[in-house]
Amino acid sequence: MRILIAEDDQVLADGLLRTLRNSGAAVDHVASGSEADAALMTHTEFDLLILDLGLPRMHGLEVLKKLRGRGSALPVLILTAADSVEDRVQGLDFGADDYMAKPFSLQELEARVRALTRRKAGATSSVIRHGPLVYDQAGRVATIDGKMVELSARELGLLEVLLQRAGRLVSKEQLVERLCEWGEEVSLNAIEVYVHRLRKKIERGPIRIATVRGLGYCLEKIPA
Ligand code: CA
Repeated sequence: MRILIAEDDQVLADGLLRTLRNSGAAVDHVASGSEADAALMTHTEFDLLILDLGLPRMHGLEVLKKLRGRGSALPVLILTAADSVEDRVQGLDFGADDYMAKPFSLQELEARVRALTRRKAGATSSVIRHGPLVYDQAGRVATIDGKMVELSARELGLLEVLLQRAGRLVSKEQLVERLCEWGEEVSLNAIEVYVHRLRKKIERGPIRIATVRGLGYCLEKIPA
């Protein structure tokens, strides 16, 4: 999962980055409205935007208005000051999907992030089933036939992307976009290594990650 945080309070931004990275997301951070706007115009790989409204060099509402004006349906969670009911109402009217009033608990924020990204994927629960494999996005736990599979954060991220697109081709470039933050040097060869490791841990019975030569990978559909 890729998340963009637009927040000018460095302490809060650090807390958000730490929390969301711990939960396995790839997170990028900008500290002004204009940077947020520029990032959103040039990068389309994000799954979620966490947007502070009180940003320098372009108000958060303006960032949101421009984003929706370009026809983007990217889920947006806005962060507002506790007393700004006006901002919250306007934010929702401008197309924000949810809001949190400061100060908020990082635990609650994590839960809302999960709910929003789940909604985007069209899922109603945090559990994805794939034959004998069950992946719980909330707990970041994968089991096969009820037995826990030990996966690194990167392998979990990879599994999540493949599960969300089971039966469809996912290119190596898409995997880099989904899994890696700006400035993180991850080569296409490294992706091959992650896939190789994940395969060794999860491929059994009907669970198979097919290589589509020259194109990418596909978690093969399991007939019901
Ligand atoms: Ca602010």
